[in-house]
Amino acid sequence: MAYRIVPELCTSCGACELDCPNEAISMDRFTFVIDPDKCKECQGHFDTPHCASVCPVPGTCVPAEGPGA
Ligand code: SF4
Ligand code: SF4
Repeated sequence: MAYRIVPELCTSCGACELDCPNEAISMDRFTFVIDPDKCKECQGHFDTPHCASVCPVPGTCVPAEGPGA
């Protein structure tokens, strides 16, 4: 499983990119995106997905599958 960024909500602040332990987050034109092949939901690094923790906009970093995907 991986996380994804909801492009309509992302303000491109960049906070998540700096803190991703897998360097899975990068700028794509106007918003940031998560590479699903690199995102491991922070396993082994943080107890919870760190991008979701640091993102100032609630609901922007969400599971790539499941409700809201
Ligand atoms: S859940 Fe963790 S590994 Fe995945 S993109 Fe967010 S910070 Fe990076
Ligand atoms: S922390 Fe949130 S608002 Fe900021 S770039 Fe990442 S996803 Fe976008």
